Amino acid sequence: MHEFSIASAVVATAVRHADGRRVVVVRVRLGALRQVVPDALAFAFEIVSRETLCAGARLEWECVALRVACTPCARTWELERPPFRCPGCGDGAVAVVSGEELEVESIEVEEEAACTA
Ligand SMILES: [Zn+2]
Repeated sequence: MHEFSIASAVVATAVRHADGRRVVVVRVRLGALRQVVPDALAFAFEIVSRETLCAGARLEWECVALRVACTPCARTWELERPPFRCPGCGDGAVAVVSGEELEVESIEVEEEAACTA
């Protein structure tokens, strides 16, 4: 289950940006090539985030489709899985445009409580 190592990285990033504040929501972008199972990631996140600033935070994700570009004819298209072959010219020389994302897009932190002391 590589979701646990991903969840650890996500929590570490969120905690770093939270700067001591409690995290409420963490949004991540998951590229199709990463083959992350969102439910498994949510489960791993819940466990890994315990006793951190992310404890109890909601994990939201956006799946980024795999998109490739043909080198010879510059056509781009989305696909579910390999083979990477251009539907236009049939060439196999394609480059991945998107789908490799695995990043924390944003976090929401709790509003700082007003100091009443
Ligand atoms: Zn092509």
